[in-house]
Amino acid sequence: MDRTFFNGEMVGSFEGTAGSSTPRNYAVPAKLVHPGRNVIAVRVYDIGNNGGFMGAAADMHLDLDGGTPADTIPLAGPWQFKPGMEVTVVPYTTCGNCPSCRSGRVNACRSNQTLGVQRDGALTEFIAVPWQKLVRSEQLSLTELTLVEPLSVGFHAVDRGRVTSADTVLVFGCGMIGLGAVSGAALLRGARVIAVDVDDAKLALARKAGAAEVINSKTENLHDKLQSLTNGDGPGVVIEAVGLPATFRAAVDEVAFAGRVVYIGYAKEQVAYETKYFVMKELDIMGSRNATAQNFADVVSVLESRRYPVAETITRVVPFADAGNALAAWAADPSRVTKIHVEF
Ligand SMILES: [Zn+2]
Repeated sequence: MDRTFFNGEMVGSFEGTAGSSTPRNYAVPAKLVHPGRNVIAVRVYDIGNNGGFMGAAADMHLDLDGGTPADTIPLAGPWQFKPGMEVTVVPYTTCGNCPSCRSGRVNACRSNQTLGVQRDGALTEFIAVPWQKLVRSEQLSLTELTLVEPLSVGFHAVDRGRVTSADTVLVFGCGMIGLGAVSGAALLRGARVIAVDVDDAKLALARKAGAAEVINSKTENLHDKLQSLTNGDGPGVVIEAVGLPATFRAAVDEVAFAGRVVYIGYAKEQVAYETKYFVMKELDIMGSRNATAQNFADVVSVLESRRYPVAETITRVVPFADAGNALAAWAADPSRVTKIHVEF
């Protein structure tokens, strides 16, 4: 089966049977050899659910000319890769030709095919990926590495919103993506964050991820509480990570004059707006998609600082054999799950 990726070009193959064995040896199957293609075989050990299966972390196996695994891969870039290194994978593809790619915003590539969403994910023993798609840290465990991609999506929204330490940032939704926005705004940028959700447990987690204030919009009056927390101004930045018409609308209604609104949530229905606020408040309204290499690096640095609540974020750890049941339970009641990890 030929379905690996490099800038949208197929360059390799996945191989192996997921869950069949767990020994951490560095043998690379011959079928994963791609001479001269700079593709690295990654053994999958731990993956997390997040809108599909992304955030694969793995031990890594090198593959240079002719199939002899090398000790190091002396490629350009920030690192030399070595067998046994623990890495995570950037799961996006870029075409290089679309308007997004031409303007350098490759995270919004028109032809993007995210691993585990538009194309098959990492529920397999090996994946073969270009070295440019690997992210590593000397200090992070595999478990921590699996959080890098999901958190990076919220970090990108913080980037889009041009958040600084002078801002008060309202984040709608405290699931995995919202937690990325909370921690990116608070821990990376030093902003004051107000987190909103309808679940007290998720709000408690948002506090641990850096939120200074939390509002349960089910039991508290959102508008009144926001006004009292912001001296009547409203938050200068609102990041929407829910995807419901009510929160899409509330973002525009509650944001301060001259504020910025960033949408990461994916609304499945049409949304009716009081459009006069777009003009009256002279809003910057932005979408935010996926994440950049810098966002990945920023998440790694925050995780390395040990200020992010990793253990509390992972709701369940299940063996591969139970992955199907765990996913079904997640689908039945997504509000109770922040992150599921599947161990191989
Ligand atoms: Zn593109």
